[in-house]
Amino acid sequence: MKYDVVIAGAGPAGIGAALEAARSGLKTALIERYGCVGGNLTQGYVGPLLGRVCEGTVADEIEDAICAKRGSVPDFENAKIALTDLLDKAGVDVYLQTSVIGADKSGEKLDVVHTAGKFGNISFSAEVFIDATGDGDLAVQCGCPYEMGREGDGLVQPVTLMFVIEGVDPDQPLLCRHEEDYTDLGDGREYLDLCHKACRTGELPENVNIVRLYATDVKTERMVNATQENRIDPLNPADVFKAEASLRRQIGKIMDFLKNNIPGFSDIRIKGSASTLGVRESRRVLGRYQLTEEDLMEGRTYSDSVVHKAKFCLDIHNPSGAGQSVHAEKRPATPKPYDIPFSAMCPIGCSNLITAGRCISGAHVAHSSYRVMRICMAMGQAAGAAAAVMLKTETATDTVDVNLIRRHLMDRGVKLDD
Ligand SMILES: Cc1cc2nc3c(=O)[nH]c(=O)nc-3n(C[C@H](O)[C@H](O)[C@H](O)COP(=O)(O)OP(=O)(O)OC[C@H]3O[C@@H](n4cnc5c(N)ncnc54)[C@H](O)[C@@H]3O)c2cc1C
Repeated sequence: MKYDVVIAGAGPAGIGAALEAARSGLKTALIERYGCVGGNLTQGYVGPLLGRVCEGTVADEIEDAICAKRGSVPDFENAKIALTDLLDKAGVDVYLQTSVIGADKSGEKLDVVHTAGKFGNISFSAEVFIDATGDGDLAVQCGCPYEMGREGDGLVQPVTLMFVIEGVDPDQPLLCRHEEDYTDLGDGREYLDLCHKACRTGELPENVNIVRLYATDVKTERMVNATQENRIDPLNPADVFKAEASLRRQIGKIMDFLKNNIPGFSDIRIKGSASTLGVRESRRVLGRYQLTEEDLMEGRTYSDSVVHKAKFCLDIHNPSGAGQSVHAEKRPATPKPYDIPFSAMCPIGCSNLITAGRCISGAHVAHSSYRVMRICMAMGQAAGAAAAVMLKTETATDTVDVNLIRRHLMDRGVKLDD
């Protein structure tokens, strides 16, 4: 198969990349290992779409397509349909149930990506490739260097299975999105204290000392972000099943905790759950630039900025225990609005491969902020724009004029100069 651009991974970043590339006139292939597009946004039951970026990015368009209003939890079934529609209308060739398994390079140039699926092995050639697998799978096949985990012990953030409950009393207002959402339950008990105590006594699973409850568009539902398994390598299939088994059991314990303790929750049922483990962190592919905590905290900008005014807190779910690993008792630190430079999306050792989404080049702490979905979508769009410019000007990631990529994005309405 021959394409102008091949994108691996149809999560938030891959979808952003595919929409921009196809709308820029590129023959675009999007390769996804699962049976529907969306990545964490559908398979992972993850919402709301967090992280701010400057106005005019594809993140606004996607959020408007899948959420009743900005900032709300998407309806995951609607998201599957709406995301599929967007890609189809843009003319993207989507290959579902197809996994990237190999790559051929000549020197630093990636020529062919090999995939495996029911049809057998299909090879894709292109001028430009984008790795939006979250895990940097394509970059690894190209021999690009990467880092994983925090400094010292190499542990990554815990994995989680998200689920949605229904049957909550419509008059029960309890919500809890953050570690610092202290809520009086009206009978002398406080919700976070109750969670902490239940974790200590074993009523809640080990390390689950907060049961985050998000509103959905339905008053009788809550999305639950609570299960967690620490010290898991999300790339190792043996660990993945171990975590899956543990997390599915944790859901039962968390349901009992809510039913037995929270007024208005006695009749709750599980409405649905993620069909795949929620992976917060895995490989961070090393690029020509690596984003640091300081870059984010100081709100640094760059001459090759392609994502502008990104904003989200440093959100590190503790890799070795409960709660947050830094700023344990206080609200996590929030960086100033920061930029992402194109050079952090250009892996070392491959001249026509761009990374987008949570696998770009950044340190463990910086990653905990830019990994959220609206920021990943904006990175994807920037990668798609870069592919269009590289094709037009017959350049590589290290020779392309980034001003042209920026111009391309601004012509599309992205307010990079705001
Ligand atoms: C439990 C949990 C809660 C979170 N909460 C929020 C939240 O509330 N709001 C928010 O904005 N963010 C949240 N996040 C973070 C966010 O969901 C992810 O960081 C974001 O989805 C990353 O986007 P991505 O496109 O880089 O990767 P992903 O969403 O992981 O998508 C990658 C895609 O690539 C595909 N893929 C992987 N390998 C291959 C391969 N070899 N071949 C083909 N396809 C492949 C995958 O199947 C997937 O579809 C949460 C994450 C987790 C785990």
